[in-house]
Amino acid sequence: MDMQPFVFRQEGRVVGIRAAAPADGVAEEVNRFALRPLAREEFAVFTLDLCNNLIDRHHSRFPEAELETVNRLAPGRPLMERHDLTGSLPRGTFFRSQLHRDGGTVSVRPDVYVLRTRENDDFILNIEGGVYRDTSIGFAFRTPECSVCTKDLRTCSHVPGRSYGDHACHYVMREVLEVIEGSVVPSGSQGTRFIAQQRALAPEEALHAARREYHRPIELWSRGFWAEE
Ligand SMILES: [Zn+2]
Repeated sequence: MDMQPFVFRQEGRVVGIRAAAPADGVAEEVNRFALRPLAREEFAVFTLDLCNNLIDRHHSRFPEAELETVNRLAPGRPLMERHDLTGSLPRGTFFRSQLHRDGGTVSVRPDVYVLRTRENDDFILNIEGGVYRDTSIGFAFRTPECSVCTKDLRTCSHVPGRSYGDHACHYVMREVLEVIEGSVVPSGSQGTRFIAQQRALAPEEALHAARREYHRPIELWSRGFWAEE
């Protein structure tokens, strides 16, 4: 029986702003997505730290192979402004992505371009000024694998966050299917603040609901880890 995928949201950080330098080669990469050639001063570029291989505060974890999938799927996806309550206007486009390694931490770091239109002026300024520093990625995956027994967590009785012997149960997100979008949100905002607007559930509720109702796709927010450059 084929189960519906989970639709998740994981949060990260804006980690870099690339100053406009005409000869940095970025324009060529951006122009693979533009319908007319853009000059370098027509757009701003930001680097986001979207997700990584650490266990997050909601007891979920990406294995590195799935981060490679996220990394591959990110280019071409839209950047949204979560602050916009309509939540429907893209502000930018991810145009490339790389895996960033820092010790044992692996994270997905895409670059996004935002057109310097009048409508985007405030958005860009809010990022440059550090007001919008948190990011999140919306994605879908198929299987939450229990770290204790390796079964689909919806079919076993282990509880994420609870200790079994010296092992704290978490779930490994397997079979990433899709990267839906990335968002920039105000610094310090809790993911839960947006849950009502996004019709998403808190992770514990979401898992509970998934166990109750096996076939329903669920949405939730979780916060990632900020890896400093
Ligand atoms: Zn289990």
